[in-house]
Amino acid sequence: MSTENTSDQLFNNSVKILTDLIAFKTISGEDNSSLINYCDEILKKLGATSFKTFDDEKKRVNLFATLKAKYPSKKKPIILSGHTDVVPVSKGWNTDPFVATIKNDKLFGRGACDMKGFIACTLAFAPIYSKANLDRDIHFSYTFDEETACIGAPILIEELKKRGIKDGICIIGEPTNMKIIDAHKGCYEYTTYFEGLAGHSSAPHKGVSAVEYASRYVNKLIELREKLKERSPKDSIFDPPHSTLSIGGIFGGIAHNVIADKCHVNWETRPVVKEDGVFLNGELDKYANEVLLTDMKKVFPNSSITKRIIGEVTGFDRDIKSNACELVSNLTGDNIREVVSFGTEAGLFQEIGISTVVCGPGSIEQAHKIDEFIVLDELKKCLSLLDGIKGQSISN
Ligand SMILES: [Zn+2]
Repeated sequence: MSTENTSDQLFNNSVKILTDLIAFKTISGEDNSSLINYCDEILKKLGATSFKTFDDEKKRVNLFATLKAKYPSKKKPIILSGHTDVVPVSKGWNTDPFVATIKNDKLFGRGACDMKGFIACTLAFAPIYSKANLDRDIHFSYTFDEETACIGAPILIEELKKRGIKDGICIIGEPTNMKIIDAHKGCYEYTTYFEGLAGHSSAPHKGVSAVEYASRYVNKLIELREKLKERSPKDSIFDPPHSTLSIGGIFGGIAHNVIADKCHVNWETRPVVKEDGVFLNGELDKYANEVLLTDMKKVFPNSSITKRIIGEVTGFDRDIKSNACELVSNLTGDNIREVVSFGTEAGLFQEIGISTVVCGPGSIEQAHKIDEFIVLDELKKCLSLLDGIKGQSISN
């Protein structure tokens, strides 16, 4: 930022945009099109081209906008990426969660740090990119429903593949206090439904207890969890080092003396490598179909076991020679690489060959909580990273 004045203006503008963004109630699963149109308009006025991708009902939208290079070079394009959805609010806020409120050095509001703060910075900085002699494209990627197992981003990624955008450097501005995050485990969530045959408890052989088959399924999961430990990679960077598995709940049955015809199990696994997810699901599905379902059908042919995928957030793998991490390190002087326990869209971009780093303003400590806030100074740090990116993206 060249002068004190422009940097103040830039900061004030990012606060103003963040205030606007927080006012859109973009809770995951709900319509986010007003927010997307707001972003699209800002970028279009600056000469960006853009396209949108949608969910099946066309209610929720991803935006991908591009400020084209004026002097195209061999430099990889940069993607500034954030999700537009926020988690729901519970009671107990001291301020209106959808009205940005500044107190001392903090700005309060749902999404302030996770992650409308980053989106606001990118939009505030966009006018500077648009005036610069860019020698590479700068993309702005704003997705829907990240918080519910990354539902929006895969739809965008498919479109990027179709359009041949498979190379580049992606910065995902999740709140990391501007630290470099270069890996996280995957997060796969499932619900498995069991349907058997109801009956009187005095004649168990005449019914098919969904609860009992669900219990055997859970036992199998626990047995497979031990196998996952044995598969732990030697050089794992995670804690714990192996893929984990957890049973979140078992729901079924109506009375002591009734054979339950319905039961479902909520469970999740966090694979350290993709192969663990494949292994686990392969073994589990085989057991469910070849052992459990076969037994169930002997008594009641219409019995069923259905595994529903709630979400499969791809893991983000450490890349020692990551262009994205190097770029951020060069600009911030921070060479430390860390891993986190939360999932992001990073693995999805990485999967199609885009070098990706997670680095953004604010702290994950405040995310998803009552009285979520961002320390205003974090916005300044983010703006200065964006300024550094400008420096790396103009022809001399
Ligand atoms: Zn987030």
